[in-house]
Amino acid sequence: MTEASGPSTEQIVEKVWLSIAERRLRTGVQLKEAQLATIFNVSRARIRRALTVLERDGLVRIIPNRGAFISKPSVDEARDVFFVRRTVERCVIERLCKTVSKADLKRLRDHVALERTANAKNITTDIIKLSGGFHLLLAETVGSDFLYTTMRDLISRSSLITAVYRNTDRINCGPDEHADIVEAIAGKDAEKATHLMAHHLEHVEAELDLSEIPDLSHDLRAALA
Ligand SMILES: [Zn+2]
Repeated sequence: MTEASGPSTEQIVEKVWLSIAERRLRTGVQLKEAQLATIFNVSRARIRRALTVLERDGLVRIIPNRGAFISKPSVDEARDVFFVRRTVERCVIERLCKTVSKADLKRLRDHVALERTANAKNITTDIIKLSGGFHLLLAETVGSDFLYTTMRDLISRSSLITAVYRNTDRINCGPDEHADIVEAIAGKDAEKATHLMAHHLEHVEAELDLSEIPDLSHDLRAALA
C-alpha cells in the first residue's frame, strides 16, 4: 500500500477525536494498531503517527508493550485545563481587540454562521467540531504559532474532558455566546470581550460534573461496602 492512499494522519486523528467527543469511543478503550490500519485502510506506520499525535494532544496514552488506550483525564487535570484556558483565551481576546482586521472579522462571523446552521440542523459531529473550532480560530487569528499550538492542545483535552464529565446532552459552547464575543472584538472593546469569554467558559465548565468521586477500584472491600 502506498502512503498516498487512504485518509491522512490528520484525518485519522480528527476521526478518533470526534468519536471521543461524541462518546462513541470511551476512556480506557484500546486502539489496536492492526485493527485501525484495516478500518482506515492505511499502513500501520500511518496509524502509529496518528497515535503519536493523539498522545501529544493528551487523548491517548501509550503504554510500552501494552498498546494505546483512550486517556482518562482526572478531575484535577480537568480543572487545570479550564484554569489554563481562562488565562490563555483572555490573552487571545486582548490581543485580537488590538489587531483584528476586517478580513479576520469576516472569517469569525462566517464561522459562527456555520455553527448556527449545524445547530439548526442538529448535526452533532459538526456542532462539536465547529464549537471547538471557534476557540481555535480565535487563536489562529492572533497569528502566534505558540498560542495556536497551546490552544489546539487545550481544545483537544477539553473535548475529552467534556466527553467524560459532561452531565447534560446539550452542548452549550454555542453560536449565541460566540457571536457576542465576536461583536465585542469587532467593537475593540477588550473589557467586554474578555468578560464575555470568561462567562462563556464558566458556562462550559458548569456543565461538567467535577465533584470528587473517590476511586475505589483499587480497594475491593471499600468498593463493595
Ligand atoms: Zn465556545
